Amino acid sequence: MPTFVHTDKCDGCAGREVVACVDICPHDLMALDTERMKAYNQEAEQCWECQCCVKACPQDAVEVRPYQDVVPMGGAVIPKRTDESITWTIKFRDGEIKRFTFPVRTTAVGSIDPYGGKPQPGDLDSPNLFTEDGKTLPTI
Ligand code: SF4
Ligand code: SF4
Repeated sequence: MPTFVHTDKCDGCAGREVVACVDICPHDLMALDTERMKAYNQEAEQCWECQCCVKACPQDAVEVRPYQDVVPMGGAVIPKRTDESITWTIKFRDGEIKRFTFPVRTTAVGSIDPYGGKPQPGDLDSPNLFTEDGKTLPTI
């Protein structure tokens, strides 16, 4: 149940800083055919269906076909993400369509400091994680 790319919509992220689906896939599955400037899933059976590439694609060109017990016989679940919200379009097999929109963040875009308040990276040879000070390791 892999992702697939609507090639009529995909523009290969031409002119953008990164190829969004390739950049975001945690499993390194999405690839770009640089001759055609079209993306594709190069190892479809490995897809986790995490929907990251679906949500990241600025062209809405990627879709995941969910399992039949989730959306049987032609149903579809299609996310569309903006900076503020995500809208899920649910297509039922009888043609009915429902949309649900949820906020996706409580902070301004670009305002998160993921390492704020964390210590600087230290000794790479140390057995401690970088958030551990060496005094809190459990004893066995
Ligand atoms: S993110 Fe979308 S538009 Fe960009 S290469 Fe992938 S499928 Fe194509
Ligand atoms: S759904 Fe997730 S695992 Fe599958 S191709 Fe997209 S980003 Fe990769």
